[in-house]
This record gives sequence, structure tokens and C-alpha cells, in this order.
Amino acid sequence: MSGENRAMLVLNAGSSSIKFELYTVVDEDRIITDEDLEQRFEGQVEGIGTAPRLIARDPDGHILIDERWAPGPPGTNHQVALKRLTTWIDDNLGDAQLIGVGHRVVHGGPVYSTPVVITPEVLEVLRTYISLAPLHQPHSLAAIEAILYTRPDLLQVACFDTAFHRNHPIVADQYAIPREYYEQGVRRYGFHGLSYAYIAHVLPIVAPDLSEGRVVVAHLGSGASMCAMKARQSIDSTMGFSALDGLPMGTRSGNIDPGVLLYWIQELGMDVKQVETLLYRQSGLLGLSGVSNDMRLLEHSDDPNAAEAIDYFIYRINRELGALAAALGGLDGLIFTAGIGENSAMVRERVCTLATWMGIELDEVANLHRAKSNRCISTDGSAVQVWIIPTDEEKMIALDTLRAVIPGAQ
Ligand code: AMP
Repeated sequence: MSGENRAMLVLNAGSSSIKFELYTVVDEDRIITDEDLEQRFEGQVEGIGTAPRLIARDPDGHILIDERWAPGPPGTNHQVALKRLTTWIDDNLGDAQLIGVGHRVVHGGPVYSTPVVITPEVLEVLRTYISLAPLHQPHSLAAIEAILYTRPDLLQVACFDTAFHRNHPIVADQYAIPREYYEQGVRRYGFHGLSYAYIAHVLPIVAPDLSEGRVVVAHLGSGASMCAMKARQSIDSTMGFSALDGLPMGTRSGNIDPGVLLYWIQELGMDVKQVETLLYRQSGLLGLSGVSNDMRLLEHSDDPNAAEAIDYFIYRINRELGALAAALGGLDGLIFTAGIGENSAMVRERVCTLATWMGIELDEVANLHRAKSNRCISTDGSAVQVWIIPTDEEKMIALDTLRAVIPGAQ
């Protein structure tokens, strides 16, 4: 079968929704590049378990299907959703045939530093990581199991948010706690690895001067983290054991003294669920502002607490930038990506102004351009190049999955 009639499905499964993108393989040989993949559809199944609804769009945003159905008995909902999705895809692919599914899986534990083809043994290992990411891992596994059940003919590949960080030096992988916990998996894993892997993948083309350099990537979205890369390898990340650490996020606290947790539990009598809800859902920009977790609303709000939440966000980015530059032994490039990083000229401008001492000189006109494309926003004389590079985690998953399904591919 030639490349033109093969298709790859990318799935990003959450608790009540599954986002998807479908690519056809354009001209595949053993060297896989971005040009080998053409996006055909994207969309989501939402309301899983309550009011399921499948929406798919073409690359121009035209809606191709918007269909609802009644939820089934508990435990069947991911299966029903993915059965409906894959049937719709089969019916709309023309003469192409779906051959593989790439999944975003949050946690690859200490073991997986690359994408892996799913076998019963791999699935067994991934189940043991549920306790490391209880809010995310079960949903990815439910999607994998649903495809195994409904479409066992499809090859499945797990692509991990932790994998890109697995080769951190040991000092960036440990906590200063008794060693046995490290062995048990209490490590600084780091997340958003698919986004960072995509940036590392395009860097030689987009900003070749930075390809072998010391670069900090700021993935600033509703989840936010920063990654220090040396020659496109991650050497440290602001996120650690969980996706709570580091920068404040839409609703997550970011870095917090663990003594605060002890205080809440011991002195205020909070239980584990209350602490979890506070840290994951009620903190960050939402908790500080009391207005919203959405940066667009905060930027337009007159509430002084909204302004203070933005101040805190900028301050922590600036602190982490200094820390990661120290870990790298200097800085050649700073890259902004994800919803806020790609779209908020104000956030980029404030971060760069605070980092003037590091040799960053922002081109203010370039920073204000609205084009959704890769662009350099530092001046020619800036000692540190600053770029906006829109991330594409789904493309990275599709590329990795394609490599995994074609024997000998690179
Ligand atoms: P993501 O999780 O990458 O989709 O990013 C979501 C975040 O990006 C939200 O906080 C949005 O408010 C923010 N965002 C998206 N567009 C803009 C914009 N034009 N200006 C400021 N923030 C934006």
C-alpha cells in the first residue's frame, strides 16, 4: 500500500472528552518528515458519560459532522465514542485506510524515554503509572483499551509527556528525600514533553543558530511550564513529580512550599480531596485573581486582583528563566509557545523587559505582529534570540506514530 492511502489517527483523551486529529500519509519512505503528513480532519467527542457529541471539522474549520447520542451503560462510553469516531472516519476517508492510532499519554514513568508500540505487556506497565498521574493516566488508558476492543486491527502507539525529559542529569531528576522513594518512582519527571519535542524537532529549520545552543522554551498555556534545552535535549524542567510544580497555571498553583499542605491538613483539618481540589482547580490565575483562569479575560479586566495575578505569573516566569539559564550555564535563545506564549504580546513584552540584563532585546514591532507563524521577535543586536514558535503536539504524535508503524523509519 502506498503512502497516499494510509491514515493515522491522533487521540488526546480526557475524562469527558477525546480530542482527535486525522492525517493522511502523503509520501512516506523511511525518512519521516512533516511533509509526509497532511491533516484531513480534527475535532472532538465531548460529553462522554453524560451527553456524548461528535464534532469534526476540515482544516478550514468547516463542520463535517455534529452528532449526539444517548450515553450507554457506565464503562462502555469510551468504547462507544471511539467506535462512532472510527466508523465515521472509515466512511469519510475515501480510498485511504486507517492503519494506526497515536495516543497522548501523560506518564511514561521512569521507563519510557521514547514512544512505544502498545502490547499487552506495555499496557500492564502503563497501568502501574496510574498512581503517578491519577487525574490523567486513566483516561488515556481507557482510550487505548477502547480501541483494542473495538478496532484490534489498528496498531497503537503511546507518546508520553514525560519522555522528552527522561535523560535529565540526576541532579535534575531527584528530590532530597531518602533514596528508596526515588527507586519507587518519586522523581522530577517533567511534562509538556510532546510540545518541547515538537519545538526541538523544528528548531534546526526554524532557527538553525539555536539548534546546538542553550535554549529555554516557555510553554505558556492553561498548563504552563518551562524547559531548558541544550542542543535540543531537555536538561531540566520547571515541572517535577506532577504537573502541579513550577509556574502558576490557569487553575494550578505551581510551586508551593510543602509546609503549606501540612498546615492545611494538620491545622485546618482539610482532607486529601480538598487539598487536591485547591491545588489543581482553585489556584493559579483563577485563585489569585478571583476573576478567571483565562489570560484574555484577565488582560481586559479592571479588577486589581486580575492585574496582580498577571504580575505574579510574569514574576515567576522571570525567576524560572533565571534559574534555567543558570542550569544551562548561559542563554542563547528564548522561545514562547502555547496559547499565552503565542498570543499574548503583553506577557512576552513584560518577560523580555525583565530579562534585559541577560542580553535580551525585544523587537517591539515584531512582537506585536498577529501572524500565527514562527517568527523571531528579538532585535538583530540582541545577545539572546527570542522566538515565537507555535507548538503542534498532535503533529509530533502523528510523526512518532508513523515512525513506529513503518519498519526501519527514522
Ligand atoms: P492553551 O492551553 O495552550 O490552549 O492556552 C490557553 C490559554 O491561552 C488561556 O489562558 C487563554 O486565555 C490564552 N490565550 C489564548 N489566546 C490569547 C490571546 N489572544 N491573548 C492572551 N491570552 C490568550
